[in-house]
Amino acid sequence: MHFFTYKNKNLFAEGVSIEKIAKKTGTPVYVYSHKTLMRHYAAFTSAFKTVPHLICYSVKANSNIAVLQTFAQEGGGFDIVSAGELYRALKAGADARKIVFSGVGKTTDEIEYALKNKILMFSVESPQELRALDATAKRLKKKAAFAIRVNPDVDPQTHPYISTGLKKNKFGIEPVAAMKEYVYAKNNLKNIVPVGIDCHIGSQLTKIEPFIDALAKTKKLLSSLRGQGLDIKYLDMGGGLGITYDTEEPPHPSRYAEAVIEATKGLGVTLIFEPGRAIAGNAGILVTRVVYMKQGAEKNFVIVDAAMNDLARPSLYGSYHAIRPVKDIGASEITADVVGGICESGDFLAKDRIIPKPKPGDLMAVMSAGAYGFSMSSNYNSRPRAAEVMADGNRFHVIREREKLSDLVRGEKLIKGRKGK
Ligand SMILES: *Cc1c(COP(=O)(O)O)cnc(C)c1O
Repeated sequence: MHFFTYKNKNLFAEGVSIEKIAKKTGTPVYVYSHKTLMRHYAAFTSAFKTVPHLICYSVKANSNIAVLQTFAQEGGGFDIVSAGELYRALKAGADARKIVFSGVGKTTDEIEYALKNKILMFSVESPQELRALDATAKRLKKKAAFAIRVNPDVDPQTHPYISTGLKKNKFGIEPVAAMKEYVYAKNNLKNIVPVGIDCHIGSQLTKIEPFIDALAKTKKLLSSLRGQGLDIKYLDMGGGLGITYDTEEPPHPSRYAEAVIEATKGLGVTLIFEPGRAIAGNAGILVTRVVYMKQGAEKNFVIVDAAMNDLARPSLYGSYHAIRPVKDIGASEITADVVGGICESGDFLAKDRIIPKPKPGDLMAVMSAGAYGFSMSSNYNSRPRAAEVMADGNRFHVIREREKLSDLVRGEKLIKGRKGK
């Protein structure tokens, strides 16, 4: 459920017309709906209200500080995967004691930065990282709370690039080895404290079963750890709940919660969830303007001013995003590829799509672009990155200015003292 709807055939974000926003900011522009973000966040908090829990929004899905501010003000926590994300979360007013730090490649500098800011816990993904965490904590004369991210070898039945809980994936430690690491840490690593177990098996899951299968394995580990006298307080189930892009029918957070609450009854833990896509995905759209219509030898192309550098998901995963006209005047339909201006054949937003035939200058909305949209964008082909806007009731705020050409070379330097001809 989201608040991008047509009023008199014009697409609106809440009470603001998309055309008005595009006029103000130019295109391409990401438009988010504050009400939708709040509604999706609340779907999680209310689904788990009967049990101790913490919702740690996954920053990488959409890391604009105004988006993070929205959840920080609701008392939410954050799941981060880099020092940069911690910096953003703190800028947005996050409570560091509600931040969990995941990722396989945390550097010593990143660990240090997070320790100094007193985050809730580190989700450790390898034996070497565990030792690095202990050594850094020792150097700083601190105690670091940690969970081990368990790799349960469960197939999340999603795109291979976003499966993370299979043996062949780089993430986490398999349960038997994880057990050994916890015990080793307890006996030998004096500057780290085991407080949780973490498990995140992938993204865009549309079924509950893989979550519950993974949970069964983490529960087993939890009981072994407690048997060894470890005080495990947190069970972090990661994120991964899918959304509807096309015809998917993912479970509602309340159904997911029912199953999880049932399966964790009596465990005496605080549950942590790290939703990203389920909160932000359908809370944002990418608005783009048609530059040219081109009839190729075999295909129609709608060439727009957004491209794979703005929204990488179609190119990267072959993802489907619905494309809608901003002014729905009931034009006759065509089948076309909607493509950007980048010099790659992989640069497309939609392939063989039936859409109302647009004309140059028309605005189109790429739907469900609120998660892994702007946050994955780049400057490839030296294209300034898009503006971002937050619609809020009848008002809207520019929450990121469009990049200027001068931003493209910020930090770059000509070589001094080289003489040309
Ligand atoms: C990416 C990620 C998430 C969020 O995943 P979604 O599918 O967007 O909910 C949560 N936890 C970890 C560790 C992640 O890497």
